Amino acid sequence: MIEREGWHFTLICDHCEHEVESFDEFEEAVSFKKKNGWKSVKGKSGWFEFCCNCSTPEIMDEYRRK
Ligand SMILES: [Zn+2]
Repeated sequence: MIEREGWHFTLICDHCEHEVESFDEFEEAVSFKKKNGWKSVKGKSGWFEFCCNCSTPEIMDEYRRK
């Protein structure tokens, strides 16, 4: 997930809860994801974000059903 805290955005892996803090712009968090191998999955309850360690087909499939 990408969380907004005041004027900053924090990118958090929905599986291992690894956090990347303090992006000034939402777009910066999105481009960080692209550069660092993060993936997004749309599940039944919304979007999930995964760090490069957690973006395996098995884990992402599990969240597609959540
Ligand atoms: Zn992770």
